[in-house]
Amino acid sequence: MYCPEAQLLWHEKSIQMSQQGYVAAPPYSQAQPGIGGYQGGFGSGPAQPHYGHYGGGAPSTFQAPLTGMKSPVLPPPVSTPSSPNSQQNGAPPQRYPVAYGQPLQSTAYNSMASSAPPPAMQLTNQMSTMNIGNYVPGPAFQNPPSATSLQQPFRAPPPPQMTMGSQSPNMQSSNMQSPMQPPNMQPPNMQLPHMQPPNMQPPNMQPPNMQPPNMQPPQMATAPNMSMGSPSMGRPFPGAPPPHPGSSAGLQQPGPVGPPGYPQQAGPFGGHMAGPHPGPGGFPAGPPQKKLDLDSIPSAIQVMEDDQAKHGGQVFSTNIRGQIPPLVTTNFTVQDQGNASPRFMRCTTYSLPCTSDLAKQCQVPLACIVKPFASLPKNETPLYLVNHGESGPIRCNRCKAYMCPYMQFIDGGRRYQCGFCNCSNEVPVFYFQHLDHMGRRVDLYERPELSLGSYEMVATLDYCKNNKPPNPPAYIFMIDVSYNNVKSGLVRLICNELKTLLDKLPREQGVDNSPVKVGFVTYNKTLHFYNVKSSLTQPQMMVVSDMAEMYVPLPDGFLVNFQESRALICNLLTQIPDMFADTNESETVFAPVIQAGVEAFKEADCSGKLFIFHSSMPTAEAPGKLKNRDDKKLVNTEKEKTLFQPLKGIYEQLSKDCVAQGCCVDLFLFPNQYVDVATMADVPSHTGGSVFKYNNFQVETDGEHFLRDVRKEVQKSIGFDAIMRVRTSTGFRATDFFGAIHMKNTTDVEMAAVDCEKAVTVEFKHDDALNEETGAFIQCALLYTTISGQRRLRILNLSLNCSSHLSELYKSCETDSLVNFFAKSSYRAILNQPLKNIREILVNQTAHMLACYRKNCASASVASQLILPDAMKVFPVYMNNLMKTSPLTGSTELSTDDRAHQRLSVMAMGVEDTQLLLYPRLIPLHNMDVANEAPPTPLRCTEERLADNGVFLLENGHVMFLWLGQASPPDVIQGLFNVPSLAHLQGNMCVLPELDNPLSKKVRCIIRDLLEKRPKSMKLQIVRQKDKPEMMFRQFLVEDKGLHGGTSYMDFLCYVHREIKQVLT
Ligand SMILES: [Zn+2]
Repeated sequence: MYCPEAQLLWHEKSIQMSQQGYVAAPPYSQAQPGIGGYQGGFGSGPAQPHYGHYGGGAPSTFQAPLTGMKSPVLPPPVSTPSSPNSQQNGAPPQRYPVAYGQPLQSTAYNSMASSAPPPAMQLTNQMSTMNIGNYVPGPAFQNPPSATSLQQPFRAPPPPQMTMGSQSPNMQSSNMQSPMQPPNMQPPNMQLPHMQPPNMQPPNMQPPNMQPPNMQPPQMATAPNMSMGSPSMGRPFPGAPPPHPGSSAGLQQPGPVGPPGYPQQAGPFGGHMAGPHPGPGGFPAGPPQKKLDLDSIPSAIQVMEDDQAKHGGQVFSTNIRGQIPPLVTTNFTVQDQGNASPRFMRCTTYSLPCTSDLAKQCQVPLACIVKPFASLPKNETPLYLVNHGESGPIRCNRCKAYMCPYMQFIDGGRRYQCGFCNCSNEVPVFYFQHLDHMGRRVDLYERPELSLGSYEMVATLDYCKNNKPPNPPAYIFMIDVSYNNVKSGLVRLICNELKTLLDKLPREQGVDNSPVKVGFVTYNKTLHFYNVKSSLTQPQMMVVSDMAEMYVPLPDGFLVNFQESRALICNLLTQIPDMFADTNESETVFAPVIQAGVEAFKEADCSGKLFIFHSSMPTAEAPGKLKNRDDKKLVNTEKEKTLFQPLKGIYEQLSKDCVAQGCCVDLFLFPNQYVDVATMADVPSHTGGSVFKYNNFQVETDGEHFLRDVRKEVQKSIGFDAIMRVRTSTGFRATDFFGAIHMKNTTDVEMAAVDCEKAVTVEFKHDDALNEETGAFIQCALLYTTISGQRRLRILNLSLNCSSHLSELYKSCETDSLVNFFAKSSYRAILNQPLKNIREILVNQTAHMLACYRKNCASASVASQLILPDAMKVFPVYMNNLMKTSPLTGSTELSTDDRAHQRLSVMAMGVEDTQLLLYPRLIPLHNMDVANEAPPTPLRCTEERLADNGVFLLENGHVMFLWLGQASPPDVIQGLFNVPSLAHLQGNMCVLPELDNPLSKKVRCIIRDLLEKRPKSMKLQIVRQKDKPEMMFRQFLVEDKGLHGGTSYMDFLCYVHREIKQVLT
């Protein structure tokens, strides 16, 4: 393929921020010798002031309520001098005068919003066959009881005043600290159950000086346009063109947009190209005629490093509407000031196009990735719990949105206007509060639901099944004791592990025992239930052999408290491996096992999780019996999709039963051959469960790897019997959902369980024009049962900007989130479309999105230049890597089960996980400074970065390789393996020996840290350069040509460039 004008440029917002070293980073600038300099970045306007409010402008202060009697539970944003802008979280701008610093991002451009155009039809639509019905706004959950007036109206303390004066830092400090009162000062209606006093001052923020050096975003201090905002607050997007030449060039762009729409891409992906050997994508995979330097094309690693350098270790305050968070790979601390933490919600763009026409024109998917149980680092405040007692949560009468910072109080505090549907609601008497002269409730900072983006609420009985409080959930361990599992030693391994692992069942913080009950089942062709009631002296076994009518023979003794039955359970776990030691039974059932679990939860009237440890395809005569339907001849045909489609029938029904009961299924598979993962994993992937797969399991080499997974899975934080509803302000709505979920209707996302790794990707579409002034709001409400059996609501709110200028959208894009969306939507499309079509769509949409940017936001540039939006400059590498993943690669060399497994795993992933999967970390180990605590910086995933005399670690969250160059220095090999040379290494090694030298310690420490950090365990595979297994490693060098087809990043970029030029002509 030919890439004649190999001039790659992309917009550098950092042009204006050279002190960040962004521009200065030479790899990029090398690429354009002789080119007329940078394009004045339209997309490269002023930096989003992530921390902007704290860097510039006169400090403002928060005055604590004067009364000491009613100390606010919720301190105002203590650590930030500009606390008043916690109101910038997106509440309707008219609430606060400009002086108080609401963002006004969009005022620079007056809305050109046209009236509602037809709904956007992005190409992604073609991927989805899911028909979303009409949106019916209505209650996701039952209405709460009407508010009672029994409660005393809240007595207003003096309003927290926001003054913008120039008080000394010391005064701020003392004011700030006053809210940090002992817990007994909390008003009675707010519990802080499992949390320490709010840690409003992360370690790196020192109270006495409210602006410690590390909180001052350097770019704020110098970005010239920042000083053009209101005197006290940096305004992200000032009303006047910033003085910087780069930006002003951008602002010279003609009005809203160019001609509407683009001609559709001609023909199939690459069809017009006469390449000799089309890759799977259909375009030639050969090297470009003019070889580009790797350093001249955008590097994902560099982007991560730059973001870490810019935001690493800093505090991200969520007080600005439409604020783009740091990358998922950056270490930062979140302070909730009115919008949900990006750990909970991340968007593909933080500036929505005002109209569906614009959305259609740019084809940038509008989506939010919601991870409701995301783990928070220790220095971030856990969610507050609000309890309104019997009155229950306060909700809008019309749209049922929950009370949140986007509700605007009016009429002296007697009414509030819903930020989502604009309905004017009466404030319940018990909830009444006076407004201050700014129109804010004086208890603003005492109520999490008025001032925070994320919080929890105690749900009343109306939110419980049958109006009864739920029982705590239970975990049932179901062990396949057929021949394979017994012989491999797996059964003994599991039983031994459970003896200690059950002490670590999840529990509420500060409580000794876990309320989670446990039960045990073994099975092959029949099921064996065990009675381990504490009153017994010996465990009792009951066998059920009627697979057609599954029932639980001993409802009252089956699920027990581990502490109470510890002796019996340990006894049982010791006996099980021996009981089946001589088994010859190789056939298993599967669907009846899940059915038994559901029945057990029904009997016990609880939700819970099944841990199923299963070896082979269920071929025994029973419901859900499967047969081998793997057929490599289908690969690359129209029928390939059938390999990924689960068999309908009983498994479909089981999913529904499980979800209805709140029964989550985790499946640990130990196959030696094809087991039909597409079908077997169907129930787990609709119930919020996970599927783990250990091919050709051997205790010696895979035992630890498997146990790491089980331990994480048993201990992780999780909610049960969950239902999520996503509400939006007017003009757009959630239309599609991707995740380990079940959709009973078009709006309610049901999850039997949702744990800290599971994310739901929500796509949005316009149904009217959006308003630049008011922005756009999203509220996710997750109703679930806690581990101790409390029914709760977790509310996550996020406010976005809206703009009638596409440049704003491109500037506010989040590549990692975009890629998460494309991964999920394309993986779902696999069920319905030939892979070739899907890859074509991905390529076309990539080209189209970038061409639209080129056309509308960088039209002044030379036509031959490839110009990428700064926020999307590595978007192509991720898209190319996505197309090279095994589910989207039509190769007969790949295992159908492995492809199906990866497809399903990705559907539930959050942004971090898809990012890592699609761009692995390649870490050089041979030349690192072992004294340095930090691990070495990763390199680009390409052969060019390997060295014959090097040792590299590569991981992507699923696999981990240690690659040893054939000329590895003997001292390195000696240090790591205690052998003189590579030739002495044993094959099939999967663990490093524990040697007492700095190199060994350091490398093992890096590996251990990675294993701890990643959601799933990875098996370490040690490969020597030029050995056969090295091929497995090479397929993860994602910038290179794919092993099973697919082009290199360089070729892909050239191809996209060519497509863009075509689109533009
Ligand atoms: Zn409403």
